[in-house]
Amino acid sequence: MKRMMVAGNWKMFSTVNSATQLIEGIVGGLPAPVTERNGDSQTDVVICPPYTVLGTAAHLLANSPIALGGQNCHHEQEGAFTGEVSAQMLTDIGCSYVILGHSERRRDYHESNSLIALKALAAVTAGLTPIVCVGESLEQRERGETADVVGTQLTEFVRGAGSGCLAASIIAYEPVWAIGTGKAATPEQAQEVHADIRRRCEEQYGLSPMILYGGSVNANNAQSLFQQVDIDGALVGGASLSVESFLAIIKAAVGS
Ligand code: PEP
Repeated sequence: MKRMMVAGNWKMFSTVNSATQLIEGIVGGLPAPVTERNGDSQTDVVICPPYTVLGTAAHLLANSPIALGGQNCHHEQEGAFTGEVSAQMLTDIGCSYVILGHSERRRDYHESNSLIALKALAAVTAGLTPIVCVGESLEQRERGETADVVGTQLTEFVRGAGSGCLAASIIAYEPVWAIGTGKAATPEQAQEVHADIRRRCEEQYGLSPMILYGGSVNANNAQSLFQQVDIDGALVGGASLSVESFLAIIKAAVGS
């Protein structure tokens, strides 16, 4: 049985009220293999809400097996960076994970591989586990460049952050064309890229990180994705905002 993870990326959704309802629903419906964990549970569950509800979430999750994560962090510890949040601040409020290099941040905030590497170093220093997103656009896939694009993202990440940081990170393969589109990669398409990421990590760094798939994962396709040998779980966007869908994906991970 392999170790699995289901992480929810809430993006810029939720108020204190709606977050409370969502968290209470998820915690109340967790399957026994997650709730009865004793340190060697095989399925980890993480939620990554917006900053404004992290405090509420930390409070509600205090006695639950669900871990908390941020969706981004700054690479400096503190300073005059208006509107930013540091990795230490995430740890301070109860986070153990942080999503870095999401394609929405690469696209909308021009985050480079080297900046993502600096953020990951800051995250690991603060005691967080980075969930580092990689993935190709539709045009890049159609040109047959998927392996090169993902390979370059990984290589530049390790060049900036070091292989020790990769060892402390989780990789999320998120094809840009599958995020928020309802068009998930097929299990075979995802497995091919996951296998390539694992091979590169093993050959170049002697590491075999946990590799999540992200991109339109839902209650219907989770199981077939999780059956793939190199898919260790999912980073879930839209479906993590529904108690029913998120629990169904967790159950698929538990049963895989
Ligand atoms: C994401 O934003 O990381 C994501 C995978 O979104 P969705 O599941 O909605 O495609």
